Amino acid sequence: MIRVEDIKTITVVGAGTMGHGIAELAAMSGFKVYLADIDSNILNSAMSKIRWSLSKLAEKGTLKEPVDTVMGRIEPVVSVKDGSFSEELGRALAESQLMIEAIPENLKMKQDLFAFASSRMGPNAILATNTSSLPITEIASATSDPTRVVGMHFFNPPVLMPLVEVIKGARTSDEVVKVIVEVARKMGKTPVVVHKDVPGFIVNRILGRLMNLACFLVDRGIASVQEVDATAFYSLRFPMGVFELADYSGIDVFYLVTKAMAERGMEILPCKVFEEKFNAGKYGVKRGEGFYKYPEPGKFVKPSHQKEMAKVDPALLLSLAINEAAHLLRTGVASKEDIETSVKLGLGWPKGVFEYADELGIDKVVEALSRMKAETGAEVFSPDPLLQEMVRLGKLGRKSGEGFYSYAAIEEVVMETLVIRKEKPIAWITLNRPERLNAISPKMIEEMSKALDELEEDKEVRVVIIKGSGRAFSAGADVTSFAAVTPLDIMKFSRKFQELTLKIQFYTKPVIAAIHGYALGGGLEIAMSADLRIASEDAMLGQPEINLGFIPGAGGTQRLARLVGAARAKELIMTGEFLPAAEAHKIGLVNRLVKPGTLEDEARNLALKLAEKPPLGLMMAKFSIDMGLETNIWGGLMMEAGLFSLLFSSEDVVEGVSAFLEKRKPKFKGR
Ligand code: NAD
Repeated sequence: MIRVEDIKTITVVGAGTMGHGIAELAAMSGFKVYLADIDSNILNSAMSKIRWSLSKLAEKGTLKEPVDTVMGRIEPVVSVKDGSFSEELGRALAESQLMIEAIPENLKMKQDLFAFASSRMGPNAILATNTSSLPITEIASATSDPTRVVGMHFFNPPVLMPLVEVIKGARTSDEVVKVIVEVARKMGKTPVVVHKDVPGFIVNRILGRLMNLACFLVDRGIASVQEVDATAFYSLRFPMGVFELADYSGIDVFYLVTKAMAERGMEILPCKVFEEKFNAGKYGVKRGEGFYKYPEPGKFVKPSHQKEMAKVDPALLLSLAINEAAHLLRTGVASKEDIETSVKLGLGWPKGVFEYADELGIDKVVEALSRMKAETGAEVFSPDPLLQEMVRLGKLGRKSGEGFYSYAAIEEVVMETLVIRKEKPIAWITLNRPERLNAISPKMIEEMSKALDELEEDKEVRVVIIKGSGRAFSAGADVTSFAAVTPLDIMKFSRKFQELTLKIQFYTKPVIAAIHGYALGGGLEIAMSADLRIASEDAMLGQPEINLGFIPGAGGTQRLARLVGAARAKELIMTGEFLPAAEAHKIGLVNRLVKPGTLEDEARNLALKLAEKPPLGLMMAKFSIDMGLETNIWGGLMMEAGLFSLLFSSEDVVEGVSAFLEKRKPKFKGR
């Protein structure tokens, strides 16, 4: 049986939109790559696109090796000669342990290629297809061993999109699925497993349902394009409106994928507005016009959505998508976790589809579906038995304490400026003035200080995470509260704020700042007083006070210098310039950089990891480091020795050492 370590060489067949990206990704991940296409012009253009993309990554500092080293791993191969597959392709395949096919979406073409590949590749080699809509099982039927044929569905562009769907055909072996999951991980992607060969897999099925319903609502005059998009953007907080996304990715693409899913038996509602756009060639951004107009073909400018247009019932808008997700879960197509990951990473939703269901209320979703079913008679609106059963059992989601998730252990307190959420062993402090980008007011400082005191007393809370709601972590202190005040008032504000940052820094539990969007001025000062900072790639950090005529007043001049050195701190504070998250990560201001949309999960995972460590040990570690930095090495070392020895009187050390000797996981109690 083949193992992931055995895979050294990959042949990517098809060097178009997807193939060249997959080849680039594979080469970046250290694989030797043969990239095949029908003629050398296409290959040359693919190679220059790859070089261009690699040099962009190098400029951003995200490429680990020189561009030439990565390019050196890719060898172009002309795949056809005189109307049949070339010997060159045959040799490349014979040398490869994995083929990833990305040729056009045509069953016959794919079957021919798979038949050829299976005749040339080794007896353990894996044959993967990037098809979006064709059955893996039928592609596999052309080979001598369908157990080694699998779906490996990347998203466009493969280098940047974090998700890969791994699809099991009717005869694909579990081992092959496992190896491909590992290969995807080795490529730095997050794989999800699709256990049954259903049309559209997870992402396209759920998205297809959402688009189809959105279109149906517009067709029937129940909502307008703008209302659907404003609801998706403002109420559901999707990164894009539904029709905006159709424009962005191409109306033709959705039209054809939906058609392919319908041909394979999925019930799709009639949808005139899509069909009209498709027939008129108004494919969206690429044509300069779709549901919205763009300045020129290929130039995307985000349409502005109006908040007051967000009038569609979100439970209705998401009803078919949730129904589909329930169907996928109930019929064993994918696990709950993988479905959640798929919509977050594949569609950029800030929450999983089941999390939305729980929030909206399972009963509300079922009601919306039943109402539509009664009005239209369309079978597709029949609520999935899983949803019906949940309603029968009173599992209505968050409001009943249980739905797809259990909320028994979750307590939420909404204050004027903050939301405190205990999700033991974690507590989240959410800065909650989204309409003001979470500007820090005296009230917020007072509430945060009080919340921290309360959380400190709760023994079951082991880690605190601070984050922002809406579009930012925090854009800084609320300067409107500075109007018409005296220097003495400002001094008091500054000292209160500094006390808060000291409280965070010398908190007895680890504090993580989860940063997205802006973390500026006072926002960054709060983040810098936390022990660890995790930021999404879209974050922007800075101390821009100088532009308003003043300087940071809540520890910014002190902590920034300690974190990144005086020279960099001076540059940031004196120019007032913003620092993109990737740069902040490079200079050590941010500990971890994560993909947008994954920040909460990544912060939670990090917090859960810390929550397993001994609480006293964590406290001593942070105190020893922070206090040690303020003293000389002799004092620091003495303090370290003192704290070190003190820990040996704790039960947790006994537990840690015994667990180590007994080769089990320790259970620390904080005693
Ligand atoms: P594309 O048309 O951009 O590229 C296909 C390439 O395959 C072309 O360069 C073509 O010359 C080449 N080709 C055709 N026959 C060949 C052969 N016999 N040998 C070698 N090369 C051959 O298409 P694409 O958008 O990259 O899609 C490829 C596959 O990936 C399709 O199955 C599609 O469904 C799937 N997919 C596409 C996307 C997307 O967003 N474009 C996303 C996920 C999956």
